[in-house]
Amino acid sequence: MNIVLLGPPGAGKGTQGERVAKQLDIPKLATGDVLRAAVAAGTEMGLRARAAMERGDLVPDAVILGIMKDALAEPEKSKGVVLDGVVRTVPQAEGLERVLVELGRKVDVVLLFEVGDEELVRRLSARATCEGCQTPYTGLEPGTACAKCGAKLVRRKDDEPAAIRQRMRAYHEQTEPVVAWYESRAKKANGPRVVRVNALGDINDITKTVMRELRG
Ligand code: AMP
Repeated sequence: MNIVLLGPPGAGKGTQGERVAKQLDIPKLATGDVLRAAVAAGTEMGLRARAAMERGDLVPDAVILGIMKDALAEPEKSKGVVLDGVVRTVPQAEGLERVLVELGRKVDVVLLFEVGDEELVRRLSARATCEGCQTPYTGLEPGTACAKCGAKLVRRKDDEPAAIRQRMRAYHEQTEPVVAWYESRAKKANGPRVVRVNALGDINDITKTVMRELRG
């Protein structure tokens, strides 16, 4: 099953995506993680992406399409994948469709995580992220050790207030149109199922709702 996770920054795509991938026993691809690793390693892609990421802007579609193409051709992704934050513009959604068609696959389900802006700003401002395994924590101070891998928690540069505002703007202007794009695809034969998820509330309850939708 190929699953696209859509939703604003801070809506819980990463956390829920991790759980869904584990329960369905398929890998997860998060372009944000790939890009942060490239920045840390100082690769050419990292150098191209860094400034945009720190401002809270989207990186160019061509960079994302390159990541998608390489990652989706990997054999371990052939039985399905959870795509977390991979599709953030309409050209990226079109590009993903092309890449999957070439591989004889398609997007099966789009999960749209919905939360209001105020709650998102509150969550992102209180977030510290493990610099090792990328696990996010709410309300823990940077410098604390990650409960999962022991590495240090840091405040992501794009979780600073100005970058948070810019990321929300990018979501409303560039990613929201992707929802309508998938909804129109959903009406066609063989189109994806679009499922709206209320992402406010208990994390475990949200996972249960999501899994019920995916298995049902
Ligand atoms: P995330 O970890 O998903 O919040 O992504 C962090 C940052 O990486 C975003 O704010 C963007 O700058 C960049 N990024 C990740 N995925 C994409 C994408 N599909 N399109 C454009 N930029 C992206």
